[in-house]
Amino acid sequence: MKITFLGTSHGVPAADRFCSCSMIEAGDAVYFIDAGAPLVESVLKAGRQVSDVRALFTTHVHGDHTAGLFHLADLVDWYYREHSMDFYVADGCLVDATKGMIVACNGGKAVHEDRVRFHVIDPSVPYEDENIKIEFIPTKHMPEPYHSYSMLVTEGDRRVLFSGDFSNRLAKADVPELLSEEPVDAFICEMAHFGVEDIKPYLDTCKAKAVYFQHVFPLVKYDGIKEISKSYDFPIYTPNDGDSFEV
Ligand SMILES: [Zn+2]
Ligand SMILES: [Zn+2]
Repeated sequence: MKITFLGTSHGVPAADRFCSCSMIEAGDAVYFIDAGAPLVESVLKAGRQVSDVRALFTTHVHGDHTAGLFHLADLVDWYYREHSMDFYVADGCLVDATKGMIVACNGGKAVHEDRVRFHVIDPSVPYEDENIKIEFIPTKHMPEPYHSYSMLVTEGDRRVLFSGDFSNRLAKADVPELLSEEPVDAFICEMAHFGVEDIKPYLDTCKAKAVYFQHVFPLVKYDGIKEISKSYDFPIYTPNDGDSFEV
């Protein structure tokens, strides 16, 4: 699979960074994890078509991870009428809000739910198609009754773990245990809600072949990441928007 970082900024965009958004290309399909960057423009810039987009997964409801969802869902509803796709969200409130906006845009007509398919994530039910499997691992970033997830993406024997957002200072110990238990090809991790020192114990036992820190705030943490990266056998990267890698 090929992962492209479309948005690497923290909760606020910068002149050269959109908010959280990653594009996954696997088989003949395109998937998104989070929607903090313009999705249609990004697909077209990558030389793909909106009709290639199979599904969008949002790790939690915060706007820096979901802002682009409405625009894509609305366009699939009224413009890309030959296309159908799935939207997986952490909480039903996002489904209700998005549907409400589409209905208003349509002048009161119902959403084409046979083509614009919304799902509230059930962590006991992974997403699976002929290309990839995505497992949803609850994190404690969001207070109850809301939900947030890390996501483990598998294609054949390749696996990439996306952190989503974690708890402040990692105080709720919500880094997925599998990071220390099983090798993954890449761990794509946020770095806005805790310090470099807070994640260090998890890196000490980490079995990932490579770690990518994005969603970095404050920016001075880039220096800290560079410093600690010398201590590990695996590479630690800080990708910019547009960077990509394949596993
Ligand atoms: Zn965030
Ligand atoms: Zn968040």
